[in-house]
Amino acid sequence: MLRVKIFTLYPDLFPGPLDIGLYKKARENHIWSLDIINIRDYALDKHKTVDDKPYGGGSGMVMRPDVLSNAIDTNINFSKEKTIYLSPKGKVFNQKIAKKMSKEKNINIICGHFEGIDQRLLDAREIEEISLGDYVLSGGETASFVFLDSILRLLPNVLGNKGSLIEESFEKGLLEHPHYTKPEKWEQKRPPEVLLSGDHAKINDWRLSQSEDITRRQRPDLWKKYLEKKK
Ligand code: SAH
Repeated sequence: MLRVKIFTLYPDLFPGPLDIGLYKKARENHIWSLDIINIRDYALDKHKTVDDKPYGGGSGMVMRPDVLSNAIDTNINFSKEKTIYLSPKGKVFNQKIAKKMSKEKNINIICGHFEGIDQRLLDAREIEEISLGDYVLSGGETASFVFLDSILRLLPNVLGNKGSLIEESFEKGLLEHPHYTKPEKWEQKRPPEVLLSGDHAKINDWRLSQSEDITRRQRPDLWKKYLEKKK
């Protein structure tokens, strides 16, 4: 079972999109669990302050390390559990990291807000920084949905069709081939004939060549790596 704990200032946002369909069922079947920790509950003054002005001046507010340490130290066993701070300064997330994360027993996610978190806290605890990409969000909550979505679908017995995990984008260093379904004729257009041929070797060849074309066109960076690996 993967135990997920989320540290947030907006607990009402959860479980949100993580409570639909397969993920809801998987949670009921104890494949994963979700605990939401409201950082504000760990504030140390009667006003429940969680942030303050940055030392050195400048705009925005910074999340206080004393409040956050109170929240995480009460709820995390750092020697056993993986703890992530979702942040634009982290290592950029990808499918390979998602796969590694899906093998963890515990994932704790700290959602930042405002200008982020006091650096002393990040330095003082074992916290890995992961970024979803080169853009800035207003908070870590939406990032946590994306992060967890990519991990949960990799857990054993979550997706019905395991084949779809083997075939999909990034698995072979390529983007996936296009898909077609019924009706056979739509706006005068038919699916590529080879897909109706029943010849599986031919279909696989076609799909691979489509994958290669799409990757070459859309993602020269992946294409270069793919060619190097093929050599
Ligand atoms: N001032 C900071 C950005 C703070 S954004 C900077 O320039 O680096 C507020 C919060 O949103 C962050 O603490 C983080 O938790 C979340 N966030 C923003 N962009 C993100 C990204 N690309 N990936 C993951 N989390 C992000």
